[in-house]
Amino acid sequence: MAKITGFETHDVRFPTSLSGDGTDAMNTDCDYSSAYVTLLTDSDLVGHGMTFTIGRGNDIVCAAIKEVASRLVGKETETLFADMGETWNFMMSDPQLRWIGPEKGVIHIASGAVNNAVWDMYARSRKKPLWKLVVDFTPEELVKSAAWRYISDAITKEEALVMVKEKASTKQDREAKVQELGYPAYVTSAGWLGYSDEKVARLTKEAVQAGFNHFKMKVGANQANDLRRGKIIRSIIDDPQYLPTDAPPRDPNSDDLKGKNAGPTGAVLMIDANQVWDVPQAIDYVKGLTEIKPWFIEEPTAPDDILGHAAVRMALKPYGIGVATGEHAHNRMVFKQLLQAEAIDVCQIDSCRLAGVSEVISVLLMAAKFGVPVCPHAGGVGLCEYVIHLSLIDYIVISGTMERNVLEFVDHLHEHFVTPCSINSRGRYNVPSNPDEGYSIEMHKSSIAEYEWPNGSYWVGAREGKVL
Ligand SMILES: [Mg+2]
Repeated sequence: MAKITGFETHDVRFPTSLSGDGTDAMNTDCDYSSAYVTLLTDSDLVGHGMTFTIGRGNDIVCAAIKEVASRLVGKETETLFADMGETWNFMMSDPQLRWIGPEKGVIHIASGAVNNAVWDMYARSRKKPLWKLVVDFTPEELVKSAAWRYISDAITKEEALVMVKEKASTKQDREAKVQELGYPAYVTSAGWLGYSDEKVARLTKEAVQAGFNHFKMKVGANQANDLRRGKIIRSIIDDPQYLPTDAPPRDPNSDDLKGKNAGPTGAVLMIDANQVWDVPQAIDYVKGLTEIKPWFIEEPTAPDDILGHAAVRMALKPYGIGVATGEHAHNRMVFKQLLQAEAIDVCQIDSCRLAGVSEVISVLLMAAKFGVPVCPHAGGVGLCEYVIHLSLIDYIVISGTMERNVLEFVDHLHEHFVTPCSINSRGRYNVPSNPDEGYSIEMHKSSIAEYEWPNGSYWVGAREGKVL
């Protein structure tokens, strides 16, 4: 039996601020970064994990990761794997570290990196990609692996077990279907705020050609500009001439698209404000964008403001515009309240702001019970690699549906991963299939060597004026 003997952490930062990639109304200067951890054992077995930041502070997260990971040193891996729910409880309940959370902030995202590394190790030990490890669990094993503290007023283990058992007899059909079709995706990369109108138009046309039919645009810096850019995007996605020749328009009134404000070709536009507004301001601003017919406004206000989101949702309902949030929802209790308060139409979990797979499973179970679709946040470095696994788990064994879901996709920085995610010709995520890829988050050693802060070769060169 293998035992955890130590770990490595790496503060890896990519200079994305140079290109405007990742820019929105709140985050104007992002260097997409990974606080990366590898758990080591006394055998060949390793586990990789990371959490995402946008630059400065990544070193603080790495320091927290060291604190969290050190609690696992000396543990038998099979003991950890035998009860991942209990492993998660152990990781969250350090009597001293808990004070600098609890279950929020730096310590929680650091815990996410480490919990994901344990899950990655577990999947590698069974020679399965992470999603496959989890969908092959019995309903009892699946429920047991989740994080249960503080949510029994929204869902009990017994209710979850009934839900998962109901889906169990048909899970193989769904697995086969998603293997064949891929998992639905949408693009954000056409609509970053830092891009010119010409670049937005070009990227939108490319995305339509690549088979995508859901598109997201960043908003919130200037309403007139947003309207202009939104009209540019709509003029392309609603025009059948830009569709790929083998892709007929979709019926905007079909069950898959109903209520999404789809245009004549079945294309859907979403908008994302990244938390810039107060509640009344959010309502007024979005009312002014009804002409571009968004499906939802994402992160209209502060991520902790559950009742604020509920108010925005209620005010925008007559306009047919929904509310989505979750990439900055720091734990399952925030999601619980968003669901209880009927504050969201779409639940956007983040794979490493929540503290790893165990806490994500809890949120997937709650969202399924409340009938709210889960469309995970991605785009940041490593996030697309992670989230395809989570959406597959949601579809195959929890919600049982993917037809109205879309998983965020941004086509950059995938080259730094050993088993990068990929998209098929229908604009859908391919299903990870390598038995050795675990949670798909292993980074190339060469990428770490080049981009590690502050002494990786790229950053040394940049300081000396050689690169850039
Ligand atoms: Mg967002």
